[in-house]
Formats: sequence, C-alpha cells, structure tokens
Amino acid sequence: MSCPEFTEDDLLPVSGLAHVVFCARRAALHHLEGQWEDNLLTVEGGHTHDRAHEGPRREVRGDLLIVRGLRVRSFRLGVSGVCDVVEFGRDEQGVELTGREGRWQPFPIEYKRGRLRHEPSYRVQVCAQAMCLEEMLGCSVPAAALFYAKTGRRQKLDLTAELRADTCHAARRFHEIMAAGRTPPPEPGPKCEKCSMAPLCLPRTALGPRSASSYLASVLANGNERAR
Ligand code: SF4
Repeated sequence: MSCPEFTEDDLLPVSGLAHVVFCARRAALHHLEGQWEDNLLTVEGGHTHDRAHEGPRREVRGDLLIVRGLRVRSFRLGVSGVCDVVEFGRDEQGVELTGREGRWQPFPIEYKRGRLRHEPSYRVQVCAQAMCLEEMLGCSVPAAALFYAKTGRRQKLDLTAELRADTCHAARRFHEIMAAGRTPPPEPGPKCEKCSMAPLCLPRTALGPRSASSYLASVLANGNERAR
C-alpha cells in the first residue's frame, strides 16, 4: 500500500498511531481537542517510558550500539516522534553511521508497561518507528521489538507487509481525523474499561458525534440538565 507524502508542517506524533488503532475517538480527544486523563495504566506507562530513557544516550556493548531517545520522522507516513531505544548491530547489510566504522543494522524497541500481550496498537507504533528509520537512513528494517517492563520480556516482531499496510492505514486515518476537525463518535466496547479517557468520552451516553469539549462547554454555560 502506498502512503502520501507530507511536509514538516504536517507531521503528527508517531505515538498517536497507537491511539488511532486502539480507538479513533481517543486519538481525537487527545490530539485534536488537547484533552487527556490519566489512570493507573497510563501513569505506569509513563514511568516505563521514563525508565527506557534513563542511562547514557549512546552506549556501546561489544558489537552493539545502543541509542536512547532517538528522534525520528517519516514524510511518507506524516509522523515524527522519539524511539525509546534503537539498537544498531554491526552488520555488513546495514548502513554507515557518521563517526562509526563499519555498517550497522537498526532495530527499534518500544517500551511498554505490564506483561507480554497481543496489542495491535503497539505493533503499529513500533512499525511506524521502523519505517521512519528506513526513510531517514535509506535502509531496510525488517524487525523490531516490544519490551514489557513488568516481566522484562522482549517480543520480537517481523515487520510484515500486512503490518506495514496497517501502519500506513493508521497514519492516513490519523491525518483524516485531524483534517476533518471533528471528534468521531464513541466506540463502546470492552476496551473502554481500560481507557483512561472514559470519564471525558462518556462512551455509553448518547453524545453521538459531538465533541467532548463542546459538551463540557455547554455544561459550563447552561448547567447539566440543558447540556444534553
Ligand atoms: S472510552 Fe471507549 S469510546 Fe471512549 S475514547 Fe476510550 S476506548 Fe474510545
């Protein structure tokens, strides 16, 4: 699947792709309306990311160069952000890096809280990071990993054509949501139980396509009874 080309001004946060895959409304509440609500899961997730960035920015362990907090972008996907960790392994098939001898193969690793699980939104997020690295370095990144902090387990992912197509689709959807300027309606389901935005989203009410911010504005202006 081909993706459109974007400019620097169009770039959206790569982390937002995980929100889009999880729930388009969640993505819009956060990135379009600027709203955010933490719960225990998001707080723990934030701490996990903070820990991922602890330690030296660059570290060499044998034939491995470890870079933390690497800023990346893709004009093809229209996203930019920061990789928790990118490991560059010495590899004849890899790329040359400024100031380093030899060739190196990048391998992005995204840190997540909790235990290993199948979470499509995480896969798309780290695949997007890999596609950013491919575009920036002019190389192929066939694999990446998710690291689960609670168990210390690393889940290796093959970046298949299907996952790449899902990533392009999520990026396109993210740009469509932002361009439309409208928050999609709720998608009530089991996922809402672990979604930190539920108090703002009110997924099981009859809000329909109205944005949470317009709802809150009308509550403040008119009182609860007249806001519906
Ligand atoms: S509460 Fe449910 S519908 Fe609302 S943003 Fe979260 S996942 Fe989406």
